Amino acid sequence: METQYFLPRISLQQLFNVLEDRGYQCIAPGVRGDSIVYGPLRDSAKLPWGYSDKQRPGQYQLTKTGGDERAFAWSNGPSSIKPFLFKQQEILWRVNKAENGRLHFQPEPATTAQALIGVRPCDIQAMLVQDKVFLNDNHIDPRYQGRRANLFTVVVNCSYASGNCFCVAAGYGPKAEHGFDVAMTELHDGFVVRAGSDNGKSVLQSLDLKQASPAHVAFAEESIMQAKKDQQRDIPSPENLRNGLLAQQYHPRWDHIAERCTSCGTCTQVCPTCFCHKKVDFPALDGSGAEHLREWDSCFSEQHSYVHGNVVNKDKRSRYRQWLSHKFVHWLEQYAVISGCVGCGRCITWCPVGIDVTEELHELCSESDNDR
Ligand code: SF4
Ligand code: SF4
Repeated sequence: METQYFLPRISLQQLFNVLEDRGYQCIAPGVRGDSIVYGPLRDSAKLPWGYSDKQRPGQYQLTKTGGDERAFAWSNGPSSIKPFLFKQQEILWRVNKAENGRLHFQPEPATTAQALIGVRPCDIQAMLVQDKVFLNDNHIDPRYQGRRANLFTVVVNCSYASGNCFCVAAGYGPKAEHGFDVAMTELHDGFVVRAGSDNGKSVLQSLDLKQASPAHVAFAEESIMQAKKDQQRDIPSPENLRNGLLAQQYHPRWDHIAERCTSCGTCTQVCPTCFCHKKVDFPALDGSGAEHLREWDSCFSEQHSYVHGNVVNKDKRSRYRQWLSHKFVHWLEQYAVISGCVGCGRCITWCPVGIDVTEELHELCSESDNDR
């Protein structure tokens, strides 16, 4: 077992400073607008101290904890860490035409080293899922690879679960086991921290910390257990999902979903594992050059399933079915037994009509579901 240290709350800024001194841009959660989202942050005082969240299907409310002034007493916000590795929109290449007609392709901008601080365990797992997609041996994405190689992650284990979290049922949380550089669990006066990589070890050594006391470690474990107990949602077992979803392609529940779904694609935009994207060209009107962009797409858009003059998934029923079947069944075959869902609950919270993926799965798999 890796040594666990105690980082006093007043020393949290030192972690930011050490990472900055090592050339990382610090990215951390903060209250921006009416929610907690990640962005560049240099000052630990601007973390969401004293904030929590309440989440229900189609609802998100930021609340003040009152007396409990912790920085990570919330579950998650609309943005995961996905946009820092797989950008919502980015130029893949740019080309200019010289007077002699020759084309000049411009080099890619250098990758900035990023330190993501305050990442939730479900989002670390989602990053490992995206690694399977973008670092696949046969199709490595150089932009993702560059950002991933220059990344430092500080995960904060959850001590609170919102009404929509189901990472325990998904099999991943609320404690991160691997895939991070440093893991922290928040206490009232500081953090129990441990390294998860050599780079993480080196950063912790430079902070000159004392070993965590048995009381600190016990309190940290208890608070993680509390987040586990608080989770109210679950999903059918992988076997029941497979048997249920594949056998229920014409279940009337798909029509019931289609009556409510607006096909807005929000669930795919907030999902930390969804990776669908499209390529778009923007040629200059005078023919002097062009930009070739990649931007997020969604299996809920009509164009996404356009093949040879036909849209394959013509209606909302087939689009939602495609989304659910891929995430909970086909993904496991495609990416070597890793599910496309980490149980963050964002698709439930941010769906404008409150469609609850856990409820739909139980309805669709009820005949083969022995888990409830
Ligand atoms: S499908 Fe929903 S709950 Fe699962 S990872 Fe995506 S957004 Fe989170
Ligand atoms: S967020 Fe809700 S309404 Fe929008 S596409 Fe997803 S399931 Fe349909």
